[in-house]
Amino acid sequence: MIPCNSVRFGQPSRAATALVCLVLADTTLAVRAADGATATASSSSEGSEAGGAVDGNRFSVERASAWKGRTSAGRWWWQVEFERTRHVGAILQVSGDQAFVFRNAPLQFVWQRSADGTHWSDLPETATTNERRLFRIHRLARAVEARFLRLNIAAAAGAFPTLREVEFYSDPQQPIGFPDWIVVVNTTQDATLPGHGQEFIPLAKSCPGWTQLQSQQICLDTFDEDFLGAEPRPLCGFLSGNFRDWCQVNRESWRGSQEILRHKHLPMWASCGGAQGLAILAETGVDRPWDCPHCRDPLKPRTPIYTHIGHTAARPCGDYSGCVFERGLHWVRTLADDPVFQNLPREFQVMENHCGQIEWPPVGWRLIATAGEGTKTQTQCLRMNDRPIYAAQFHIEMGGAPETSKQLMGNFLVLAKAWGGYSRYLTGPRRPVAQPAANPATD
Ligand SMILES: [Zn+2]
Ligand SMILES: [Zn+2]
Repeated sequence: MIPCNSVRFGQPSRAATALVCLVLADTTLAVRAADGATATASSSSEGSEAGGAVDGNRFSVERASAWKGRTSAGRWWWQVEFERTRHVGAILQVSGDQAFVFRNAPLQFVWQRSADGTHWSDLPETATTNERRLFRIHRLARAVEARFLRLNIAAAAGAFPTLREVEFYSDPQQPIGFPDWIVVVNTTQDATLPGHGQEFIPLAKSCPGWTQLQSQQICLDTFDEDFLGAEPRPLCGFLSGNFRDWCQVNRESWRGSQEILRHKHLPMWASCGGAQGLAILAETGVDRPWDCPHCRDPLKPRTPIYTHIGHTAARPCGDYSGCVFERGLHWVRTLADDPVFQNLPREFQVMENHCGQIEWPPVGWRLIATAGEGTKTQTQCLRMNDRPIYAAQFHIEMGGAPETSKQLMGNFLVLAKAWGGYSRYLTGPRRPVAQPAANPATD
C-alpha cells in the first residue's frame, strides 16, 4: 500500500477531508493519482471521523485511522465525493475494529452512486446481507460513472460499523494487490472470538518473511467455500484443537469444513481435534452419526477411525477422567521426506495434549510422521497425497517447542504460497507439490 502524500484533517464537522488514493485504470504498476475527494458520514464516533477510512492505512485499528459510526444509530452511511466525475469498477473494503476478528463492522450494506449527492442508485454487485469478511473486494460487472459513492449500511455486526480503509479502482478487472492472509478456525463449540487457535497467528507472523501477514479468525460455522472464495482470497487455513468428544459435537457445524476438504482448494494445517475432525470428515462425513470410544458399539462402530489412547476406568461420554493422556513435549519421527519437515531432524520434540487419536490414514492420505521414542500415539501427522493439507496430532500453536513449531509453520507457509493459496480460480499448469517418499507404515 502506498500511502497518500498528503491527508488533511482537522475540519470542525464530521466532513473530514482527505485525499483519496485512486488507482489509474490504465496501469497495473501501482501508480496512483491523488485526487481531491471529501469523505463524510451520517455520524462518527469521537476521534474516528470519515477521513480515517481513506487515510492510506489499510489495516490500522487505531481510532484516527478508521471511520466508526455512532453506537446504536441503527442505520449509517459513509460516502466520498470526488472532485470530478470518475469511473468506478472495483472497491476494496477493510472492515471491523479488531485486527483479526470481524466485529463492529458493516453487516448488511450496499454501495450506491450519485451524480449530485441527492439521487442515489445501488451498485447491485455490492449488495451484501450477511458480511463475514474483514477484507472484501467488490467488482462491478461494468465500470460506472460516479461523482459520489456511498456505503449505505442497514445493519452492523456489533454496536456500530467500522471502515478501516476503502479504495476505489476504475477498471472492474484491475488486479488489486493485497498481502497474504490466513484463516484461523476456532473448531471448539464455543463461538467466542478471538478464541481457541488464535495462537497460530503470532506463530505465523514470527516466521522469517511473514511479518506482514494478515489474518482472520472465524468459528467453525463460518468456514465454508463462500467465505474462502471471495476476493481477496486467503493463503491457507488453520484448524484449532477442541474439547468435546465426537458423539457430542454438532455435526452440522462441520459441513462447511467437509465441503472445503472435498474440494481441496485450500492449503490447511490442522492440530489435534482439528486433525481428528478432518479424518472423521474424510472417513465418515457429516451425514452419518458419530460416536466416541465411550459409547461405541463394537459391533456397529460409527467413527472407528477415532479412538482413545487407553483407559484406566469406564466413564460417560465427554468425561475424560478415566482416559490415558499424552501431554507436554514428546518425540515424533518422520516417515517421509515431506517438504513440511525441511530442516528438521528425523526425530524432533513437539507439544502434545490429547487422549484421542486417529487410527489410520483416510483414503487419499498418508502417514508422514509417527511416534518417536516414548510416545504412545502412532498417528502424529497425516498429509493428503496431492495437496498441502496436513492433519497433525501435535500442537505447533502451543508453546513448548518454539523453534520446531516455527520451522514447521514456516515450511507450511512456503508450501501454501507455492501452491498458489486458495486455488479454486487458478487455471493452467500448477507447480506439483513434492510427494513424500514411499511410506512403510501404510504401504
Ligand atoms: Zn460418546
Ligand atoms: Zn476415553
